[in-house]
Amino acid sequence: MLFRPIGAAGQRKIAASRVAIVGCGALGSYQAMALARAGVGELLIIDRDYVEESNLQRQSLFTEQDARDGMPKAVAAKTHLASANSAVSIRGVVADLNADNASEMLDGVDVVLDGTDNFETRYLLNDLSILKRFPWIYGAAVGSYGVTMTVLPGEGPCLACIFPSAPAGLQPNCDTDGILSATASAIASIQVAEGLKILSGNVAALHRKLITVDLWENRFQAVNPGLAGASCRACQLREFSYLKTNGSLAVRLCGRNSVQVHGGRQALDFSALERKLASHGTVRFNAHVMKFIVAPYEMTIFPDGRAIIKGTEDPGEARRLYARFVGPPSQ
Ligand SMILES: [Zn+2]
Repeated sequence: MLFRPIGAAGQRKIAASRVAIVGCGALGSYQAMALARAGVGELLIIDRDYVEESNLQRQSLFTEQDARDGMPKAVAAKTHLASANSAVSIRGVVADLNADNASEMLDGVDVVLDGTDNFETRYLLNDLSILKRFPWIYGAAVGSYGVTMTVLPGEGPCLACIFPSAPAGLQPNCDTDGILSATASAIASIQVAEGLKILSGNVAALHRKLITVDLWENRFQAVNPGLAGASCRACQLREFSYLKTNGSLAVRLCGRNSVQVHGGRQALDFSALERKLASHGTVRFNAHVMKFIVAPYEMTIFPDGRAIIKGTEDPGEARRLYARFVGPPSQ
């Protein structure tokens, strides 16, 4: 409130706002921490993954205990942030944001911050933002390089204007290329500042640039992204191809030797599943997640039936394992 451009009136707007963070890794951890402490009204944290020890170098919300417990990131984030600011209503949603659920999940949000690690989900967010007219703030970081842009539907270019298809250099392999934690928090900081400008009614202060940084090569650039592309698929032709269900029910996860398999759309009974699996391997579970180790595979199973299967990069093999141990996956 003491910062004049926000002031008491801006803070009241922030406190009445709904913000979604999609992906709670390096960028999302920082965004969630900063926005909870800034006192947004509702904070929705959507993430499909669980905490691993190798995340801790940059994902500042999580602890070694979260990694030992294999806690879903959305649950761990909510738990830690609730004790940072109890006035914020925080929802941690353990889910894969996709064409089937995105519209409902992001209904009524004032702004979305990108914490994802893939262009598929970013194009989905971009399509939905244009259709439903909410702003979203693109951000990506790999190695020491980071990039961010704020997308205001109807004003200036969208992500698909700038990158009609996923740029090769920005399809990172986060776990093999590594990431400098300072770069992730620099990009996330810019995203948070932009978010607070939008929420507090200071749209005129937005940077309106495509910002890139390389904190190791010491390069800082802010280029004018120009006007919306006249033939942009998304914002001009309004072909929202990423809002159509693509049917990819088993997908390889970037650099993880893992495949995500979608479940049968009904809630799993972990106790019953444990009885079924106990003779095949090691099983442990809590209210949020089940770990089933059957060498050389490690299956992380969520209550909604989704699973991340480590030890293979072959979607077909992952679906066969899922069918054998959990049940028939989604058709
Ligand atoms: Zn566009």
